Amino acid sequence: MKWGLVKRYAMTLVAATTLSAQSYGEEKKPKVSTEKVTDSIYMITGRGGNVGLFFGEDTTILIDDKFAPLAKPIIASVAEITDSPVEYLLNTHFHGDHTGGNEHFGKTGAIIVAHDNVRKTLSTGGEIKAFNSTFEATADVGLPSITFNDRMVFHVNNETVSLQHYPSAHTDGDGVIYFEKENVIHAGDIFFNGVYPFVDIGNGGSVQGVISAVEKMLEKADGKTKIIPGHGPLSNRADLEAYLDMLKTTLKRVADMKAQGLSRQEVLAKAPTADYDKTWNKGGIKANVWVSTLYSTLDE
Ligand SMILES: [Zn+2]
Repeated sequence: MKWGLVKRYAMTLVAATTLSAQSYGEEKKPKVSTEKVTDSIYMITGRGGNVGLFFGEDTTILIDDKFAPLAKPIIASVAEITDSPVEYLLNTHFHGDHTGGNEHFGKTGAIIVAHDNVRKTLSTGGEIKAFNSTFEATADVGLPSITFNDRMVFHVNNETVSLQHYPSAHTDGDGVIYFEKENVIHAGDIFFNGVYPFVDIGNGGSVQGVISAVEKMLEKADGKTKIIPGHGPLSNRADLEAYLDMLKTTLKRVADMKAQGLSRQEVLAKAPTADYDKTWNKGGIKANVWVSTLYSTLDE
């Protein structure tokens, strides 16, 4: 392996690079930090979804790209780790906190790869009803030029990198990335580590689909697997199991109440997630929004 490509620098685990940039529109000082996952995989954190970086003798692959103003800090961060620029950019799903840099990376010549529905949604623009927000179509240069339906495999860097689609999970176009030898999974937003998740029911997602995808991921994970979640800190199998427990238990409680004929407001009043809130109610999706999501997903 041409490890000469790898710039060795004194860094162990967390926050090696904090990059400031001059001015990118509204955001004055976009910052990212890097965290080593394995010798050839890093996680890049900061505003927006967690980014994965995989590099080696054949190619450099980036997974997701946060918001547009973070593209330059991400590129600078990658350059500190490897001399080879990003050749492939994989999108785990269409949301703007994971694809915001697509046009920028497309212009640098990166080949963008995602599930069929990611291209479909990005090419038209649309809305996220849960947040009462709309988004514009992505310019052609930022659209995935290679798309897949069920599964796709990269045989590069002496590794097998599988992209696996799970239907109707966080959205209608999720791809989870498995690094088989490195024993690393990039879960995208199917996994919010440590907080109640956002499930985009308006764009084809469902809590049931998230549960089924998490079960599939657990089949592939062992005690040493490192899991990059869409949001939250680097995690492992135990974290994903705890997440699955929360998802299944809270869904069952709301399903039982709904089966008894309780309205959304009546279910909310019973606070069916109360014992989980201490652990999980720390993110952007608050307990009441999570309960309402559970109620809605049972209609679909
Ligand atoms: Zn998302």
